[in-house]
Order: sequence, then C-alpha cells, then structure tokens
Amino acid sequence: MAWVLILAVAVVGAWLWLQRRPRLPRITVAEYGALPEGGARPMARTSGERSAETQTLLAAFRSDEMPVSEDVERDDRAMLVRILQLLAEYAEAHEAVLWEPDEGSDGVLVAAGWSLGAEPPALGEQDRLLVELAATEQRLTFNPSGAHLRVMALGIPVHMSRGAVSLHFREAPTLGHDAIEVRLRRMAVEVASRYELLQARAKLSARTKRLRHMIKTAITLQGNRDPIGQEEIVVRDACIVTSADWGVLVRGTHDDASLALVRASPGTPGALVAGLTARQGTLVGDVFSARKQRLVPDTRPLLDAREALFDATPIPAGTRSVIAVPVKRSEDEPSIGVLVLGRTSGEAFSTADSGSAQDLATIAAGALDTAWAWQDATTTAKTDQLTGLPNRRAFDEEFARMIAETDRYGNSSALVIVDVDFFKKVNDSYGHDAGDQVLKAVGATLLAMKRTTDKVARLGGEELAILLPQTDREGAIEAAERCRKAIEALAVRTGVGTIRVTASFGVAMYAERSQAAGSLFDRADQALYAAKHGGRNRVVVAPD
Ligand code: GH3
Ligand code: MG
Ligand code: MG
Repeated sequence: MAWVLILAVAVVGAWLWLQRRPRLPRITVAEYGALPEGGARPMARTSGERSAETQTLLAAFRSDEMPVSEDVERDDRAMLVRILQLLAEYAEAHEAVLWEPDEGSDGVLVAAGWSLGAEPPALGEQDRLLVELAATEQRLTFNPSGAHLRVMALGIPVHMSRGAVSLHFREAPTLGHDAIEVRLRRMAVEVASRYELLQARAKLSARTKRLRHMIKTAITLQGNRDPIGQEEIVVRDACIVTSADWGVLVRGTHDDASLALVRASPGTPGALVAGLTARQGTLVGDVFSARKQRLVPDTRPLLDAREALFDATPIPAGTRSVIAVPVKRSEDEPSIGVLVLGRTSGEAFSTADSGSAQDLATIAAGALDTAWAWQDATTTAKTDQLTGLPNRRAFDEEFARMIAETDRYGNSSALVIVDVDFFKKVNDSYGHDAGDQVLKAVGATLLAMKRTTDKVARLGGEELAILLPQTDREGAIEAAERCRKAIEALAVRTGVGTIRVTASFGVAMYAERSQAAGSLFDRADQALYAAKHGGRNRVVVAPD
C-alpha cells in the first residue's frame, strides 16, 4: 500500500510543481497583426550565399509552395516582443530586452527587441556595462541595488555571437535572486532561438522577394523587343532589387574595347550622362575587362585615391556606396557591358546586394546581347560604309516619313539632290582612293551644314540627297545655296594633292497632300539635270 501512497504523493507533487510554472501560451504568427507595446529593430534584409538556395527557392516559387506575406516581418517582430513581454511578466520585471552585437561596430550591443515602449531602452552607463559584461563573458550579472534600476543580464549566443537578455526592475524585485535567475535562464534560450528563427525567416522572405522580382524582370525583358525599353527595364529593376538610389548601364564592344554609358535610371547624378566612356584603369573599364564584380561599401578611399568611375569622371559626390558588375551571359563568356549602382544614403551595399546585382545582370545579359546585336545590324544595314551617312535604304524610309509628316502637319518640305561635278575627272586625275576621300569630305560638309531636323544621305556613287522637312521654297533654296558654297570652298587634302570640287543641286518642293509625292524624286532629278546643263555648280528648283 505504501508504494501507492508514494506514487500518489509524487503525482500530486509533480502536478503542483508544474502549476508553479506560469504556462507559456503557444504563439502563432497569425495571432499578431500589429506591434504590441514593445518594439524590435527591423530584421535582416539581405541574403547570404546564393546559388544552391536560389535553386531551392526557385523550385518553391514554381510550385507555389511558399506564400510570401508582406506582413511576415511585422508579425515576426510582434512575436519577439510578445515573448519578451512574457519573460518580463514571468520574472516580475518591468521590462525585458534582447541585445545583440551591432554588425560592423566592434561588439557594441544594440537592442534587438524590447518589451516596453516604441523606442529601444536607454540604459545608464553602469547598467550598459553590466549587460556588456554578461554578453562578453557569457555569464549572469546582477545589480540588485541600483539607484534607479536593478538589472539582471544573462549572456547568450545570438547569431553565433555574444548577445544577452536583460531584465530591468524599477523597484526592488519581489522575487528572490535565485527565482529570477531560474526564470531568466529558462526563457532566455527560448527568446534567443525564436529570434534566430525570425531572422532566418526575414532573410528568406527578403531573398524570395528579390528572386520574385528578378523573375518578373526576366519576363518583362522577354516581352520587350526595343533595345531602349530593355535598357530602361534593366536599370530600373537593378535599383529595385538592390535598393540602389541610381543605376547606369554601360555597353561594351570587344572589337575596339570601347565602353559607353547608354542608359541611366531616373535620379542618377547629373555627372553621369549617356555617352561617357571608360577605358582600362577606370573602375568601370576594369570590371568589364576583368569580368569580376566590384563592391565598394565606402567610396571615400576611392575618392582619396582618385580612382575614376569613367574616363575623367569620378564617383559622383554624395554617392556613399557603389556596386559595379559585369553584364555577361555566363561565367566563361566575355562581358558585353557593366551595370553600376549607387547608394547616396542609408546603409552601405553588402555582398548580398552585389550578388543580387550580378544575378540581375546575368538574367538581362541574353536579352541585351540580342537587342544590341539587332540594333547594330539595322544600323549597319542602313549606313553607307564610305561616308558613314545613311544609305539609300535609310533615305527611302526617311523620305516616306517626311511625306507622311507633311501630309499630317501641313506646310511644305523639300528634297535636294546633290551631284558632284566632273567627279569622273577626279578619279581619273588623282585615283580612286583620293576620289573616296573627296566623297567623304563632301558628305561631312553637307552634314555640318544641315539643321538638326534635316537628313543627309548618300544615294549612291557621287550622288547625295538632303531632306528638308517643314521648309518653304525660299528656305530650301537658301539651304541648298549654303551647301553649294561650302562644297565650293572645300579643299580636300590628300596624299596626292589638294583637291577642289563643286556640286550641282536639284531642288523639288512637296506641299501638303499634293499629288506630287510620287514624282518628287523625278522633279528633283530634272532640276539637277537642268543645273548640270546650265553650267554646273548651281542650284535649280523644279517648277511646282
Ligand atoms: P557630272 O558633273 O555630269 O556629274 O560628271 P561626273 O563625272 O561627276 O559624272 P559621271 O556620272 O559621269 O561619273 C561619276 C563618277 O563617280 C564615276 C564613278 O567612277 C565615280 N564614283 C562613283 N562612286 C564612287 C566611289 O564610291 N568612289 C569613287 N572614288 N568614285 C566613285
Ligand atoms: Mg552622277
Ligand atoms: Mg557627277
């Protein structure tokens, strides 16, 4: 019978003992929508190693198994605060705080979460030292007789580093030292491990957000065939995934190893404009040729060392942190460009940010490569190799555009055909190469004389054309005369002597919706014929 009694006593004893411990409610994320009275600093927003995890996340993303709530981080912080409030209640303290070493600053402790008030607690010098001692030595410290505050702190590992949990009492604690210590020890581990979990979740959620954005970028790029549109998407999205304040895209060509800035995001400092070039020895040039990303968390040493971002262009003043990544399809392919990102305020870029920038550049590389190659091909197909002027094909397009615009906006436009006089003689006397040089010079002269809206093209041989949109008869004659005089004054220095030429001009007008569009070319040609027969080196306008 005795053993039954002993068992009964043991059961009752155990039950009583269990009752001593306040029951910890199970906390679920869904329970907490808003932050309770306490507070917590934002969880990590960065990502660490990428590749393997990126694969896993990508798979999860595709199977839609991982819903990402925008509110996860807020809920998680609320949960941390709730746990600290439970700890404070349990130990009959007025406040409980989780401390962690601040990244970057040598072990200085910052409050990761606190049970009371919106602002992190401000401890006096003595109390702070007490908490720091607990953290560095990973032990318990206690100041039972503080004038304003009694503090008990317990060192615990947080993030594989030395953190602490502290309890603050405004009055002398009601519980005994031992009882407080037991309760603190029991819950501190729970607080720390919950915090680690929440941190991991925050990182994962931030990473997933970035990844989702990059997938969106890839999809948007696929749907956009226009090179300018694609460049805009790349700089915009690169700024988003790295939280950069500005971003520029640089295009490189391996033929002449030239690099030029082609696109800048809104908000880019004024010094970084399209057309800037970068050679070896500049930050952009070196990232391009070395095919290796460069993370500059703090730009000040570079400014002191006078390292340039582009040729003769330093990192813009006010930019605190910079990332430059090569744009390339894969590890072993040459780069086709460089993506540069800058932060003017807030935290410095991290390796996670440069990792994201690199991922985005790699995602975009294929689309950019195709778009740029296409852009080149169309430019080449429409450019005359000798003079660099638009060729007949490009001229035909511009001609059609000018007619359509005249029909739409009214007024008149003009077509001028230019033919070099006695050009056969130039070839005969000086040789074909010298003749080529003369043609180049004539083309350049016409280009220099035209207004911005005018178009100059080489139609073939020694025949060129000028399109003058929104121009009346007098204006067209004046423009042609100006060009004629400029060619007459031209002295082309070649290896076989200085060559002078003249040219004849045939002008024809096109008025809004006149029936003459089809015959415009013929009329200009006839005017040119008349100029030749009239003695050359002159301008003749076709009768309307
Ligand atoms: P006109 O004043 O009547 O126009 O006399 P022209 O000698 O200029 O006219 P013609 O049409 O008889 O001769 C044109 C010459 O232009 C013949 C051709 O060899 C030369 N030519 C055409 N294309 C090129 C070129 O790309 N380079 C060189 N060097 N010559 C060219
Ligand atoms: Mg000719
Ligand atoms: Mg000629």
